[in-house]
Amino acid sequence: MKLVLATSNMGKVKEIKAMYSDFEVYAYSELIAPFEIVEDGADFKANALIKARAVYEALHDANAVVISDDSGISVDVLEGAPGIYSARYAGAEASDRDNREYLIDNIKAQGVSQSPAHYTAAIAIVSAKGEETVHGWMYGTAITQARGDGGFGYDPLFIPLGYEQTLGELSPEIKVTLSHRSKALALAKILLQQR
Ligand code: IMP
Repeated sequence: MKLVLATSNMGKVKEIKAMYSDFEVYAYSELIAPFEIVEDGADFKANALIKARAVYEALHDANAVVISDDSGISVDVLEGAPGIYSARYAGAEASDRDNREYLIDNIKAQGVSQSPAHYTAAIAIVSAKGEETVHGWMYGTAITQARGDGGFGYDPLFIPLGYEQTLGELSPEIKVTLSHRSKALALAKILLQQR
């Protein structure tokens, strides 16, 4: 089965290819020119479906199975922000570092140095056989001092429940046993194997 990932986020591509080593996996930008997808859905699931549908239609390949991930971090003291806006929290062109600094400033502005937080991942599968979605979550604490340079995005600011190190300090092997994306991908794999 030819699985096409509707993302050009290399952090995600790396994690998904590692977990799906038994499938033939391509980032869509390896097959067609990358194009802008407007993610204007109201939640992670809606945005995952928007991305997977857009790539499926652009591929013009009835055999392709497209999977997309829409994910983000929700911080309790910020009433769930940045949530679906995680990738562009500090602005449309924001880098991971800009987003982390903005998150740190906003948590500190609440008068605290850390907060319970969680990551969410919604995975959409779109193919000639129809559409399916699954979710995964990872709970922990968002801190205000970046630690470690592993992972991507907000990982240096996130300590998973039961650990003392951030995802920036923990190995990719540990992250894969804990992450929101791994949990959603494991469910998606069950659906893919039933096809
Ligand atoms: P998306 O590509 O629109 O789904 O945006 C996801 C954003 O959420 C990323 O750019 C990161 O900022 C953040 N994010 C999602 N998953 C992770 C993760 O596993 N680690 C760190 N940041 C993540």
